[in-house]
Amino acid sequence: MRRHALTLLAALLFLLGGCERQDSLAEIRERGELVVVSRNSPTTYYLDKNGATGFEYALSALLAEALDVELRMETVYNLRDLFAKLDRQNANIAAAGLTLTEERAARYPHSIPYYKLTPQVVYVTGNFRPANLEDIAGMKIAVLAGSSHVEMLKTLQRSEVPDLRWEEVDEADTTQLLEQLKAGQAELAVIDSNEFSVQQTLYPRQQVAFDLGREQDMVWYLPPGIDNTRLLAFIDDFILRLQKDGTLERLREEHFGHTDGVSRMNAFEFARNVENSLPVHEALIRKIANEYRMDWHLLAAIAYQESHWDPKATSPTGVRGMMMLTKATARALGVDNRLDVVQSLRGGARYLKKIKRRLPKKIQEPDRTWMALAAYNIGLAHLEDARVLTERQGGNPNLWQDVMERLPLLQQSQYYRNTRHGYARGREAVTLVQNIRHYYSVLAWQEIPEIQPLPPQRADDYLPETLRDLQLQAL
Ligand code: GLU
Repeated sequence: MRRHALTLLAALLFLLGGCERQDSLAEIRERGELVVVSRNSPTTYYLDKNGATGFEYALSALLAEALDVELRMETVYNLRDLFAKLDRQNANIAAAGLTLTEERAARYPHSIPYYKLTPQVVYVTGNFRPANLEDIAGMKIAVLAGSSHVEMLKTLQRSEVPDLRWEEVDEADTTQLLEQLKAGQAELAVIDSNEFSVQQTLYPRQQVAFDLGREQDMVWYLPPGIDNTRLLAFIDDFILRLQKDGTLERLREEHFGHTDGVSRMNAFEFARNVENSLPVHEALIRKIANEYRMDWHLLAAIAYQESHWDPKATSPTGVRGMMMLTKATARALGVDNRLDVVQSLRGGARYLKKIKRRLPKKIQEPDRTWMALAAYNIGLAHLEDARVLTERQGGNPNLWQDVMERLPLLQQSQYYRNTRHGYARGREAVTLVQNIRHYYSVLAWQEIPEIQPLPPQRADDYLPETLRDLQLQAL
């Protein structure tokens, strides 16, 4: 019986091999579905409370829209499986924060670049800090299996540093590299700049020792052996258009922008507090966020920014409690005891909702939330001034990215002289929002491991779907 199935399989594979090269664009349109394979990680594709998100997901969704087809995202357990999926022509595109390398380019057609990244050597502060390639020879280096960095280290080993040694971590998410560093299982890790900057907050003792080479291109790869000419032309056009109309920049800002400006000390304290203080308040924060139909990670992030989750916090300027409400705000919200943690959290959540309701309708999510947070700090009137300034300077007053650039101008007399409400500490408001965004993302990512795909167990997982079904029938 089994032999029979295998013969059938071999015959089928032969037949498939002999087929005409198919036009992938026509095939996608015919099927009405674009299949994108990605890695499940904070920098690429993951699920949050509102569903799928991540930089690669956002781009893929726009591409599917442009093609007028449905999007199907697939994840793999590691980078080797990702390319194996392309080899088997089981996906139309691989979009996973992938670096353009010579080896890959020789086998897989690829798009024009849509992002830049720099490979970096990361070490743990307090330990030896290597400064160059010679220093890292003989050290225990962790890299993602099948990654561009393995290719790079191999080349370096052949040409310059024969003593180079490394361990390949068989995962798709670079968080695992940082985990190994943290646990002392590795001395160094090689990781891309964009990945490291978004994940560093939880690993404050880890720092960049030096850049391993120059900036590189991030591209999408396509399966070999099919006619991708038209699909590639479509994709390249699509990327150029997104570059031109500012969408690409906006997505970059949305997914990677919040990492600027969170200082290392902040990161240190945050990591410690997530471990020690958050568990004490988490249940309550979740409950109150739920009452106000808010993402609890956001409420937790605001509370952290305000008081470091300290219900008894007080400041010399007279603000108090977990959400650091002023006396006047508290009164307006019906909070009579600001040091009562339940009242404080409720007050803060209600206050944010109230501000959000008063923002102009044209401001859409997520910008709406970031602007509401800025107003939470400096008031709606000043936010409005910054939006007017933005418009005057040719920016879009409904985008946080544009308004964020103008808020600090409210501290310079040549600008605030000509606003309605005058001076405001705009820079502080920007820092506050960017910090909250960062804490918020990190808290939300904490839940990623729970949805990670399991490693493939059976050889069947490697078979194309149609063949798998046939084989099952035959058996
Ligand atoms: N960009 C890397 C690659 O293309 C993956 C991410 C990383 O290892 O930091 O293989």
